Formats: sequence, structure tokens, C-alpha cells
Amino acid sequence: MLERIWRESLKNYAVGLLVNLAAILAITYILSDDTSRFVLNWSGAALTLTTLRFAQFLHAARRYRQTHTFLLVDSFYLNLGLVCAGGFWAVLGWWGIDHYQGAQQFAIIVILAAMAGGATGTLSSLKIAGKAYILLLVLPACIRLLQTGIHSYLTLGVLGVIFAWVMMISHQNNYKLVRRSIGLALSNKGLLDEVSSMAEELKQENDTLEARVEERSKDLLRLAYYDELTGLLNRHGVFNLVKYFGITPGNVTVFLINLARFKQINDGMGHEAGDMVLRQVAQRLEALASQLNQDIFGNVDCQVGRWGGDEFIFYFSRLGDGALTPQEVGSLLKDEINQRMQVAGKTISVDVNIGAVSEQDCDNPNNLFLYADIAAGEARQSGHVVFFTPGMREQLRRKTTLAQDLRMAIGNGQLSIVTHNIVSAEDHSLASCEILSRWAHPELGDISPVEFIPVAEESGTIVELGDWVIHQAMAAQPQLERMAGKPVKVAVNVSLYQLLQEDFVDKLMLFTSGDFAPQNLIVELTESVFHEDEIALVKQALFKIKQLGVEIHIDDFGTGYSSFSRICELPIDAIKIDKAFIQSEDEKNIAIIEAVVFIARRLKIRVIAEGIESQDQAEKMRMLGVNELQGFFFGKPAALPSIQ
Ligand code: C2E
Ligand code: MG
Ligand code: MG
Repeated sequence: MLERIWRESLKNYAVGLLVNLAAILAITYILSDDTSRFVLNWSGAALTLTTLRFAQFLHAARRYRQTHTFLLVDSFYLNLGLVCAGGFWAVLGWWGIDHYQGAQQFAIIVILAAMAGGATGTLSSLKIAGKAYILLLVLPACIRLLQTGIHSYLTLGVLGVIFAWVMMISHQNNYKLVRRSIGLALSNKGLLDEVSSMAEELKQENDTLEARVEERSKDLLRLAYYDELTGLLNRHGVFNLVKYFGITPGNVTVFLINLARFKQINDGMGHEAGDMVLRQVAQRLEALASQLNQDIFGNVDCQVGRWGGDEFIFYFSRLGDGALTPQEVGSLLKDEINQRMQVAGKTISVDVNIGAVSEQDCDNPNNLFLYADIAAGEARQSGHVVFFTPGMREQLRRKTTLAQDLRMAIGNGQLSIVTHNIVSAEDHSLASCEILSRWAHPELGDISPVEFIPVAEESGTIVELGDWVIHQAMAAQPQLERMAGKPVKVAVNVSLYQLLQEDFVDKLMLFTSGDFAPQNLIVELTESVFHEDEIALVKQALFKIKQLGVEIHIDDFGTGYSSFSRICELPIDAIKIDKAFIQSEDEKNIAIIEAVVFIARRLKIRVIAEGIESQDQAEKMRMLGVNELQGFFFGKPAALPSIQ
């Protein structure tokens, strides 16, 4: 507060000095015709004092500019200068009223009154010195007027005293006003400081918030475009990549890599192990991509992404002729992932199906991933890296139609069964009948089971279809027996997918709990049941089936994963050697059949030869020791008249 008042005083002091100077010069001029030297002496002394005051003022103002603080010593000298100036005017008033008459006397009174009036404002910040100055200006002249004893001067003197009193009050009020306004300005400043510090705080908070929002946006971006588990681009990220970079026509190949039997790893070894497999595959793909990207001629651009679940995308852009071909990259991918890996303390190898599509085979870049997926579907069957061809699109369309229509076909009588005899090799008498399904599609005509069974397996309809076939077989069995005039067993083909259904054995038990004797049923399974991944479950199911009294045959023997050591472990009654061996002219195949018969005999397993088309073949098989025969030579699969 003191500092602000001081500043206010300095500001007005300069004005006061100027007014003072003007008044000195004016009064000197008005009184200059006086013969006495008093006025000139007074004027000289007053101007000297004004100069000194001015010098003191400059000194104090400079000090204030440097320190911005109130200094008592400066205040003292300035106040002293002011009071001295007041003293000079007091002397002039005292002497002048007495010495002059008329206009000059009047001029003195006017100048003194005007200066006193002005001082109530300009000196309002100087509480005591200001009042002293006003009193020094007015009172001596008033006293002199009162001393004259002249009536009108007396009145003027009294008025002057009242005037001085009013000016004291006015000065005091002005002083209070100055203080209050300074106080208000200071509290406003405090308020302003508070507001600006709040604004600063707000700004800081805003900055932190903005940083957090930015961080959060990055997180969201990461989540949106990257896969958390592997750190690879996710499906969105891959799409974005293609969208962002675009595709240079004719040089891009997209590989869709699907891990075969990943579900078994997850189910058998746990989800953590599954995650480890996915991470390791991701690392291998990334390593391969960065290895290919190191092409010194910049011929290659590879990117890796996780398509979802157990599927990955390998994006290969061939920018120059020196780069590897897509076929070579496909083989590298397969080899890389096939290599053994350590997972949860075990060494495992992961099989992959790889579907690929090169841009020149793709009508629209948006379809790249779809076509790669179609090719991957093909790869699932062949086990090789399969490149998309336009014909596959048609196949896929047909497959999709068949899968949809098959669901309805079972219920609306489009499916039927045929029976195919299996005879004794010795006398060709009927031993059993294999039940095969047939589908008469209303628009597409007869569909072979070679086509619709895989579709049923893929779409899951095989379970319903399989149940239906078993029922049909059980229903046909008494009639077949009647026709043959001897006991006849019925054989049904059962898919691995069907066998692995948890309730398959229970259902079989239920089906055979009525009039039908389980001993009259044969289950034909292909060699896929020997695959290592499912062997434990298969074993369990087969022993239960065997317990029921149902016979178990291995179909198409020799085409898949057969191994006699596996056959020893399982309750197998017979093996059906695939027709490819029977119909082949190659002598080596005869040797194989011989060996199979030899081992099977030791294991007490019967051998059936399928695909017999001639007397010759039938005789040869009998000679080799095959127990039963099946083939067109003994009649083609045929419908049962009464069942139709
Ligand atoms: P499969 O079980 O090995 O059946 C034998 C197939 O070979 C039958 O073809 C039969 O018509 C054919 N065949 C039999 N003897 C000869 C012959 O002397 N020469 C020639 N060239 N072929 C012969 P089909 O009926 O087309 O069945 C094909 C495959 O479809 C079957 O092979 C079986 O694996 C599957 N299948 C058929 N019906 C069903 C079914 O109801 N369920 C399941 N899961 N699979 C079935
Ligand atoms: Mg069969
Ligand atoms: Mg067969």
C-alpha cells in the first residue's frame, strides 16, 4: 500500500511543481512593478527552491523506478521541499496582503486560493504535508486580512478561514479516496493474480489431460490395428495397410496361413501353450519377413499380420525380377513354421495349410483375402501350399450350395441308401453288406458321396447324416438277412468327426438297445483315426464300441497313416485294403498285400479286398489269403427295393 501511495505522490508531485513554477512566474510578473526588491528576492529564492525540489524529485523518481519500493528518506525530502514551498507562499501572502492594494492584492488572494484548491487534489496522497501546504498558503493571508480591521477584509478573512477548513476536509476525503482506490486496485490485483494462477493451473491440467488423451488415442490405435498377443498387425491393420499403400498391380501375393489342428493343441496342452505356439509362429513369420526385406536391391516388401484365431497373413510384394518367386516364398513359409518348437517343456511340430493368391489371378484387390481363404480351404485337403485359381471360386460356390442344401436333404427324402455286398473269398457267399449313402439333388442331379461327405464333415452335418445312415442300416439288416437266407451284418462308414463326438458311443448304445443285435453292425473307419493328435480319444471310443459287440473295420487301408503298431493297440476286427492296391498291375503292390495279409493273420485280424472288378482279381486275392472280397464283379451298390 505504502509503495502505491508513494507512486501516486510522485506522479502528482511533478504536476504540483509545474503549477508552482507557473504561479511563481505569474505572481512575479503581476507584482514586478513594485519598487522594493522584495518580490525579486522572493521570486529568486522560490525558483531556486523549485529547482532543488525538481532535482530531488528526479532523484527520487529514478530510485523508485529501480527499486519499486517506498523510501522514507526520499519521502522526507520531498515533503520538506513541499512545506518549504508552502512557507514561501506564506511569506508572500503575509507580506503581500499588507503591502499591496487593489488588483495586486486581489491577484495574490486568487493565486493562493487557486493553488490551495488545486492542492486538495494533487497533494491528496500526502496526508500531513498536503494539509500543511494548504494551510501555509491560505492562513497567513487570512490573518493579515483579519488584522486590517476593515469590515469587508474581515469578511474576506473569515471566509478564507472557512475556506481553509473546507479544504482540509476535502483534502482528507481525497486522501481517503486515494487510499481506498489503491486498496481496491491492490485487491483487484490479488484477484487478478488468483485468476491468472487458476488459469495457469487450468492450463496445466488441460495439458495433462491432453497428454492423457493423446496417450489413450495411441492405445486405442494400438488396439485397433495391432494384435495384443503377438504384436502383429491385426485384421484391421492388414486391411488398413493395403488401403494405405494400395496394391501395385501384378506384384502382390497374399498368403493365408492356417495352423492345422490348432484346436487340439489348445484343448490338449492348454490355452497358454496355444498362445505360446501363436507367438512363436508370429516370431518366425516376422523373422522371415525381415530377412526377405533385407534384399539389397529393394526388390521385396513383406508384412505380417494375424488374421484371427490360428490364421496369419503374409503379404509379399515382389518389386523386381531378382526377388524370390511367390512359390519359393510359399515353400519357405511352410518349412519355417513346420520346424519343431518348444512349448511348455515339450517339443512339438505345427502343420500349416497355406492358401495364396497372386494379384494377377484376382479380379479385384478387395477380394485378395477372400481368395486366399478359398485357396487355404483347398490347402486343408492337400496339405500343400495352394495358389488360388479362378476355378476355385466356382468350386467354393458349389460347396456352399451343397452345404446349405444338405441340411434340408436329410429331412425331405433326397437322401437314400444303397447296399454293396461283401462276400467270402472262398465261396463268394454273402458275408456282409456295406451301406452307402446317395443324394439325389433336385437341381444338381445325383451328387457323389465323394463330394458331399467332405462337405458334410466340414459343415458338421455329418453327425445328423451319420445317425440317419446307422438307422437306415439297422432297418435294412433284417430284410438283407431274409433275402440272403443267412445272418448278414451291415457295415456303415463313420467319419472321424462323427466318432469324436462325445455322445457318439452313447447314441450307438441307444440305437442298438432294441431288437437290433450290436453284433450285426460293423463300423468302417478310415485311416485318419490313426493320426497322432486324436489317437487317445479314438482309442477310448473304439474300446467302448468294441465292448458293445460292434465290429470295427479299417477302410481304404494303405492310403493314409496306417501303421501296424497302431493297429495292435486298437480293437480292430478287419482291414479293407484300398482298391488302388487291388486294381494296380504293379507287382510291388502284390507284395504289399501279401505282407499285410501275413501280419494281419498274426494279429488275428481279417483282411477284406475292395474294388474287385474281375474274376482274376478275385482269384488272386483268394490265393494271397484275403478273407473277404467286395467290388463291382459281385454287383454294384444297389438300392433295396422295399426300403425305397
Ligand atoms: P468306401 O467306403 O471305400 O466305399 C467304397 C466306394 O468304392 C463306393 O463308392 C463304391 O461304390 C466304390 N466301389 C466299390 N466297389 C468298386 C469297384 O469294384 N470299382 C470301383 N471303381 N469302385 C468301387 P461310393 O459309394 O461313391 O462311396 C465313396 C466313399 O464315400 C466311400 O468309400 C465312403 O468313404 C464314403 N461314403 C459313402 N457313404 C457314406 C456314408 O454314409 N457315411 C460316410 N461317412 N461316408 C460315406
Ligand atoms: Mg467303406
Ligand atoms: Mg473303401
